[in-house]
Amino acid sequence: MVVPLRSVTWQPVGQRLLVIDDDPLYQSLISRLLADADDEAVTDVAPTLGSAHEMLYLHHYDAVLVDVTLPDGSGLDLAADLSQEQLAPPVIVITGSDGREVWADAAAAGATTVLPKSLLSAERLAGTLEFSYEVTASERIATLTASIATDTTGTVEPSVIDEVIDRLVGHLNLDRASIRIIDPDGSVVATAGSTSGGRPEHVIARTLDGWSAVLTIEASDRRWGRVDAALGNLCDVVLSRTLLEASYQQLDLSEHRYRAVADASADLIMTVDEADTVVAANLALRAELGIDPLHTTLPNLALTNPVMALAARLLTSARQSGEPAHLDDRPIDNGGTRRWYSGRAIPAGGVPDDEAMHLVITETTGRVVTEHELSTLALTDPLTGLANRRLALDRLQHALDQVGRRTGLVVVAQLDIDHFKSINDLYGHAAGDAALCAIGRRLNALVRGADTAARLGGDEFLIIAEGVPDADTAGKLIARLHHDLGGQVAFADRNFEISVSLGYVTVHERSMEADEVLRRADAALYRSKSDGRNRFTEFEDHDHIFGSVAEISRELRHGIDEERFRLRYQPIVNGDRIVGLEALVRLHHPVHGEISPHEFIGVLIESPMLVPIGEWIITTAINRLAAWTAEGISDDQLRMHVNVVPQQLADATFIDHVLTELARAGVDPHRLVIEITEQSLLDLSRRSSGLKRLAEGGVGLYLDDFGTGASSITHLRSAVLQGLKIDRSFISGALAERRDADIVDGLISLGRSLGLDVIVEGIEHLDQLERFAPADVSVQGFVYSVPLDDDEIQTLLVDSSSSRLVARTHEPGG
Ligand code: C2E
Ligand code: MG
Ligand code: MG
Repeated sequence: MVVPLRSVTWQPVGQRLLVIDDDPLYQSLISRLLADADDEAVTDVAPTLGSAHEMLYLHHYDAVLVDVTLPDGSGLDLAADLSQEQLAPPVIVITGSDGREVWADAAAAGATTVLPKSLLSAERLAGTLEFSYEVTASERIATLTASIATDTTGTVEPSVIDEVIDRLVGHLNLDRASIRIIDPDGSVVATAGSTSGGRPEHVIARTLDGWSAVLTIEASDRRWGRVDAALGNLCDVVLSRTLLEASYQQLDLSEHRYRAVADASADLIMTVDEADTVVAANLALRAELGIDPLHTTLPNLALTNPVMALAARLLTSARQSGEPAHLDDRPIDNGGTRRWYSGRAIPAGGVPDDEAMHLVITETTGRVVTEHELSTLALTDPLTGLANRRLALDRLQHALDQVGRRTGLVVVAQLDIDHFKSINDLYGHAAGDAALCAIGRRLNALVRGADTAARLGGDEFLIIAEGVPDADTAGKLIARLHHDLGGQVAFADRNFEISVSLGYVTVHERSMEADEVLRRADAALYRSKSDGRNRFTEFEDHDHIFGSVAEISRELRHGIDEERFRLRYQPIVNGDRIVGLEALVRLHHPVHGEISPHEFIGVLIESPMLVPIGEWIITTAINRLAAWTAEGISDDQLRMHVNVVPQQLADATFIDHVLTELARAGVDPHRLVIEITEQSLLDLSRRSSGLKRLAEGGVGLYLDDFGTGASSITHLRSAVLQGLKIDRSFISGALAERRDADIVDGLISLGRSLGLDVIVEGIEHLDQLERFAPADVSVQGFVYSVPLDDDEIQTLLVDSSSSRLVARTHEPGG
């Protein structure tokens, strides 16, 4: 019959012992010797294995002494059974045999030791028991130690230390025990168990990295020799597990903190492992993706998310180089909106062979947009959104640097809106702005992305086209620009027409400076304007007869010395009557023949020659008028118009000269009209003494080229002003362009309302005459006559006094 073994507890020294022997002689001998060895011990005797099992089931024994040979089996079998039990008492095998095989068999069965019957004595028994207790205690402590050391939960919480102490107290049947963990500063950071302080104490202390575990045991009269080593090991393990736990906690805490920081960040932060699988992701990244990216590979995420595609690129470049990688301000089209991102990929490092990578992606849209806005503000014209002058000059320089390096030509065109000033004056500045904006929009639509369209200021625009294949293409490009830039402009509840004048230059070689290119484009634009506006002109080198200012100055000096200046006269007609003549200067050159004032007026007005030439013109015109009147060629109402520049009006001797010459020639001052440009009128206040003197002297004052300059209506109210001449650029093509006709009508009624004489200049065709010459308006233009020399004008004056003056459409070259 098998009696089940119950768990038995190891008792402290001398509590309860079981002797199993069927020989009554040995039973009493051993009992007596045990009593001698430990008088507190209680000894039970079992004669058979069966009775022994029963006793073991009923009682706790501190040690079992068993004979090998028993009536119902071998004592070694009992040893083997007990060795399978937890906390079984140590088994001491008693044998009558001296053979060494018994030792081997006993050890194999799990017995603690072997005691030959021939050696039985009280001392020997006491020693054997002590040894057995120690071995058993050590084994139990080792088991306990191993169970903590191999605990893979990774945590040694205080409750676990408590359990260690409980188990230790139980295993060793101690009264009390405690353990304290002391940190390097001497503070107790953990404690388990308890001590009463009243009983003798045994203390085992172990230290590790400045930390200590102090185990205090209350158990009287124990021998600790062998057990101490096991307890020391236990302390070591508890201590290292506690430190590990503390570092785990520390790690936990710092991970928690880092996670909190990462989660608080708006950046997208992730860590990928060596297989590019996302192993950590912050809140912002989860929000961006709308899913938990953990366990997904970054390349997979990149398939559907463009920001992740950027991150994947970063990852690749950091993996290839083994270095941190950066990307700055990459635009990404995300759901139709453009966003910018910067990113960093940082190898995790830290642990050797760690292939993990941290990735931080920052959205920089705000900054990029702000920078863009700032640079846009600095480099663009706020009204039209086109490049401003600064950017335009920069681009021009760049384009010129590329000439020769890249194929094709650079075409630089300068343009302005025809009669822009008048649009402003007649319809208001908002209309002017609308015209500028329309040009801005049209330019944006017309030029290619790589080309530049800029507003230089006012109504001046610049276009730079690079890589234009040839001059022919350049011409077509410019023609298209010119055509498409004009047209209707919607403003408020009405539309008005605009046209542009354009001048351009093609650059083939890298020798030309930006200044020179601009000067040429401007010169060509000027040509377009003086040829009647609403047209485009390519700069040509032979635009000018004279190559330099010095050359013109020389010609002017020779001109006056050698009397090469002539005056031509162009009739000013009202109805069919010649009411005036405009004196227009010419220079007769021995090689170039008659030279137009266009070629030299600009230089003349800046040169000292202005004084003698200006005086010569006045004198000549007055003399002619006096002569024709005296000869009856003209009536005494005919007025002579002479062009004068501000520099002359500022010169008192010139004013004196005019007044003196009139008096000398006996010409009524009213018959002389001084034509000044709008710029002169602007300077009116400064020059007013000269103008006033002329006006007071009876000389008439007309505003020339009206509508093209910068004069304001206030100036038109000037008391000294008698009339205005509407610039001929309004007339050319005016019938085709309704808005020019509107402007002319506006200017005429403006002049009328101010009580001024109005002369419309530049009428070449009969239909223009019909359209623009109401009865109260005078006309000057080729429709009646080109400027004529002395003889020709004399004939015309004579003819017109006897018959009606004939108007006929002027054919160019005719
Ligand atoms: P301006 O004073 O406006 O003179 C009128 C100009 O228009 C003249 O050119 C005349 O020939 C031209 N013209 C008149 N009718 C028509 C027409 O139907 N069609 C076209 N296409 N042109 C027409 P010109 O003689 O070449 O003179 C040009 C400018 O030179 C003058 O413009 C004036 O500003 C200046 N100028 C001429 N003579 C003198 C002068 O003696 N002294 C000064 N200071 N400037 C002068
Ligand atoms: Mg004039
Ligand atoms: Mg004029």
